[in-house]
Amino acid sequence: MKKQLITSALPYVNNVPHLGNIIGSVLSADVYARFNRLRHNETLFICGTDEYGTTTEIKACQEGVSPQELCNKYHALHLAIYEWFNISFDYFGRTSTSMQTHIAGNIFMELYNNDHLFSVETNQLYSVTSDRFLADRYVRGTCPKCYFDAANGDQCEHCGSLLESTELIDPICILTNTHPVLKQTKHIYLNLPVLQDTLFSYFKRVSSYGNWSNNAIQITNSWLKEKLKSRAITRDLVWGTPVPKNIEGYEKKTLYVWFDAPIGYISITANFTNDWKSWWQNPKNVNLTCFMGKDNVPFHTIMFPASLIGTNTSWTLPTSIIATEYISFENKKFSKSKNIGIFGDDVIKSGIPADVWRYYLLSIRPESSDSTFKLSDFQAKNNSDLVNNLGNFVNRVITFLNANYDAATPSEINCTIPQSVLVISIKLQNKLKLIVNLLNKCQLKKALNEVLHISALGNKFLQETQPFLLIKSTNENDKKICDCIMSTSIGIVYVLSLTLEPFLPSTSVKILNMLNLQHSILNLTDKFIEKTITPYRLLPPCHKLSGVKCLLFQRISNNEITNLSFVGS
Ligand code: ZN
Repeated sequence: MKKQLITSALPYVNNVPHLGNIIGSVLSADVYARFNRLRHNETLFICGTDEYGTTTEIKACQEGVSPQELCNKYHALHLAIYEWFNISFDYFGRTSTSMQTHIAGNIFMELYNNDHLFSVETNQLYSVTSDRFLADRYVRGTCPKCYFDAANGDQCEHCGSLLESTELIDPICILTNTHPVLKQTKHIYLNLPVLQDTLFSYFKRVSSYGNWSNNAIQITNSWLKEKLKSRAITRDLVWGTPVPKNIEGYEKKTLYVWFDAPIGYISITANFTNDWKSWWQNPKNVNLTCFMGKDNVPFHTIMFPASLIGTNTSWTLPTSIIATEYISFENKKFSKSKNIGIFGDDVIKSGIPADVWRYYLLSIRPESSDSTFKLSDFQAKNNSDLVNNLGNFVNRVITFLNANYDAATPSEINCTIPQSVLVISIKLQNKLKLIVNLLNKCQLKKALNEVLHISALGNKFLQETQPFLLIKSTNENDKKICDCIMSTSIGIVYVLSLTLEPFLPSTSVKILNMLNLQHSILNLTDKFIEKTITPYRLLPPCHKLSGVKCLLFQRISNNEITNLSFVGS
């Protein structure tokens, strides 16, 4: 089995992640990483903050701190949110490190030595006052299309036109409030047209055997159908990865973030382990699965692989691209400035456990179409799926064994296995096979739905077999059948603790605690799935439970929903 390298798109450091960001990348990747660990695949799950760029520089300037200080503050904030959500990164790093400079510099030099880079002279706005060329975002002026007098250097907010800062009428540098001048400068471009054919055959090959969401295939196809254009990989920016020192005339320039940021996956891994090449320079033995929102697809399927293919090194390229569609909040676009949506920091203060948020986000994951977060639906799904279905089943089984079997599993089975048990055993094993199959294909929402089907089957099984009547029977055989039914039921509870682990890890641990079992025994290997055909033998006879009964979930009241809804109004 190949090693599994899993990445989730690097969140931009200045933004507090909202629920849509969380389900789009980190939470989805977390489920897949946890699943692979349960399959006993060698797994590495990497992410980190994307820290360079104009936005950071501007914000640091506004807050009166250095870009590094700003990044330190926000990196800690991201980390706290993901820890609260129980995201099981092997390492959550950052892009502003010397390792990034080293690795990005090497990739740049290999591309340069292979003649895939060339320089282009252009005229760009230059601030005499601050002695620097100005990135588009540093310039404001009058829009040449609609004459709006405060258009940004890259786009006019009034008419929506995409602009070059040199097109602005009467441009002003927003850093110094002075008029910049036009001055000749040069930038280095990556020659994408010469890499197009190799890129196309790479895409055809991996998309035929990897997991590619439909949107990722469509977006990549539409890029490759057009002739690719060369793109600048340097910028006039201080806060970025420096251009290698031996390239003359680029001392004040840094690498463009679209080229630089994906290399962050590699440098973050290298900051985590000296053995990073066994992951990133080992394409034969590593599957690389990248999770992201769909706006990030071209960077991962065109720019990033092209940058690596053009070197002399055999890099591990993405084998699977899993991109989500858009998610909105009550049918409106998430926006921190307009106070629309729930953000990572709000969730921590909500008093509602992380697993409930994880459940709802995964159950509305925009897997193949857009979806929306609705507070009323969040409440309804908690109260029906988690409390009435899942929590209720586990609770019924544990309570029954605590009360009637002195908090232990029944003794050795000593009767003919009843038809009802045979039927549910087959259904259970089929569900497990289906769940593994869906998770292998990264169909997380469907897989979670099947897990909930298991507890629904369990509830129905208790309803039909009525152990609460059998236990009171004076007939010895009835008691033996009751033993068999309860051994089966506790086996199903155990299977739930296993299948819930990738989705609701804290709930899985709570169930294991009641079962008096350690997390380390969980595995979702084919060998284990074979054993589930006799669920009544999954736990040994007379195994002592912890005797504790903890409520897995609590109802969410209308009041709690009202308290949450102020956030999104
Ligand atoms: Zn305009």
